[in-house]
Amino acid sequence: MSSFWRLFAGVGFTVLLLGFVAGEAVAEKGSKFREAVRSAGGVISTESPAASEVGLGVLDSGGNAVDAAVAAVFAVNVARPQSCGIGGGGFMVYRGADGETAALDFRETAPEAVEADTFDGDGLYNTFTGRTTVGVPGTVAGMQAALERYGTISLSEAVSPAEQLAREGVEVQPSLSREMGNNAARLKLFPAAAGQFLVDGTEPYEEGALLVQPELAETLALISREGADAFYRGAIAERIVAEMEREDDLPGNEGLMTLEDLAAYEAVWREPLVGGYRDAEVIAMPPPTSGGVAALQILNILEGFDLAAAGQSSADALHLIAEAQKIAVADRGEYLADPDFVDMPTGQLIDEGYAEERRSEIQMEEAGEYEAGDLGGPGEEGEDTNPDTNTTHISVVDAVGNAVALTCTIEQSFGSAVVAPGTGFLLNNELTDFSEPGTANEPAPGKRPRSSISPTIVVQDGQPTLVVGAAGGVTIIMGSLLAVVNVVDFGLALDEAVDAERLDAFVPPEILLEDGRVSPVVQADLIGRGHEVSREGEYADLPRVQAAGVDPGTGLRLAVTDPRSGEEEYAALGQDAVPMPDTGGASIVMLAGLVLALSGAVGLLALRRRL
Ligand code: GLU
Repeated sequence: MSSFWRLFAGVGFTVLLLGFVAGEAVAEKGSKFREAVRSAGGVISTESPAASEVGLGVLDSGGNAVDAAVAAVFAVNVARPQSCGIGGGGFMVYRGADGETAALDFRETAPEAVEADTFDGDGLYNTFTGRTTVGVPGTVAGMQAALERYGTISLSEAVSPAEQLAREGVEVQPSLSREMGNNAARLKLFPAAAGQFLVDGTEPYEEGALLVQPELAETLALISREGADAFYRGAIAERIVAEMEREDDLPGNEGLMTLEDLAAYEAVWREPLVGGYRDAEVIAMPPPTSGGVAALQILNILEGFDLAAAGQSSADALHLIAEAQKIAVADRGEYLADPDFVDMPTGQLIDEGYAEERRSEIQMEEAGEYEAGDLGGPGEEGEDTNPDTNTTHISVVDAVGNAVALTCTIEQSFGSAVVAPGTGFLLNNELTDFSEPGTANEPAPGKRPRSSISPTIVVQDGQPTLVVGAAGGVTIIMGSLLAVVNVVDFGLALDEAVDAERLDAFVPPEILLEDGRVSPVVQADLIGRGHEVSREGEYADLPRVQAAGVDPGTGLRLAVTDPRSGEEEYAALGQDAVPMPDTGGASIVMLAGLVLALSGAVGLLALRRRL
């Protein structure tokens, strides 16, 4: 009899333990936690419901991940015009179901007239506004290049849903309404911009209002009919240059872009950066963005520490992540820029031997100060001059497993605030991402300004388990990076990895920490080690991360929109999405184990008493 009860108790304790282990990988969810969408087909995540619908429509009609991402980019231009569009640029990382990888750079370039000191001194450009800040846009060329290499639909088919949205109107989302208000004064400097984005050229549209953009519809129709040439050599180019040549009395508002600059633009396929991180392969974007190099460098440094053992949200884990970031940021400032203009030690920066060297500088009990490594650089840090951020990210995994991480931007919210009359789209102010003369990231004709954009694909057991990227200026780097660490080190599910608390040590000794779910003891510990903890609450506004991926357990595709994107901007969609299983699974296992174990123990006790 007693062996029966012993077995009972033994099984119970084992089940309890299993439940506990499973439960450990379940992160504490925040108050705005959003469950991932699941599908046996394709999924898309953006922060524009209208754009995700467009992407889903493309998937439904047989398009692949690249088709869907490209169509979504054009639709974002219509529905979330403050963040991304054909007047800007971006970066895309691709991994096909067959394992082929690629990286597409459609970053804006400086016009030929730009010089190292173009942005010195006073002028409108120092408020990050106006024609001088506009780089030659890359989005149309980039989307054409993406479709030509990997798409199954034409540029015209990809543009057409966006054209219809622009013609019929889109609902103004809360973030668009808010940003219209925040940028009203800038928009009013440019009548075509004010006319398009402010009611009667004066007031922001209210949330839920219909925004109809007939000039944008015409521009998209031109691209649809004539291809990218309409933009770079045809009527659209002429309208952009006419705006550049318009004279006014605003100092520092001189337009620099010419027809030749537009005709010379090319999107560039680059070799993606690929690194191993524990059991995962990480595919990242190479320069001119700093995002991929920084991510791989941070991961290489962290690989020497057992973050899983330290535990998610522990002082040790947060300290180590912050220290690794500080080292990468120091190197980024000194070395990273446009690889076509500057000799950069990219290979050394992401080399494991170099990571080992830098790792040895980290003290466990004390926050450090780090210099750039001595790799033969210019010796001067190129700072990020424009603190204003925006941008948006799109992640797609299609039914066969092709994956796209694409981040597009017009730099800050509403870009330069310039709309060339007759075009209907905002021009970027990406040239404000250049740094001071004498640095690697100094302005030069034809050069691409350094970015922080970080589209990333994590592959585990041959599957893209995390396809991720973020919006939010320099905070983008940690937005993507922490999702990787949360999935690989802490075993979090996709939605938990995006929801979990963030930290950013871009400007040491300060650490921006979403402290809502971090214990006060841990925060005190971090302060004790010398970090200045800036408490950002449960959720900061930035970075905003969008993610998709294949669930390793079920093989289903998952997608999630960051809870930090507004509630109405939840835009993760899947083909014939299926509901999530009961996430209380681990607790149920633990409860069953507890009941079994207790019954076993009571049985044993009762037997003893009787004996
Ligand atoms: N221009 C920024 C970058 O490329 C992205 C826009 C932003 O600041 O959010 O890093």
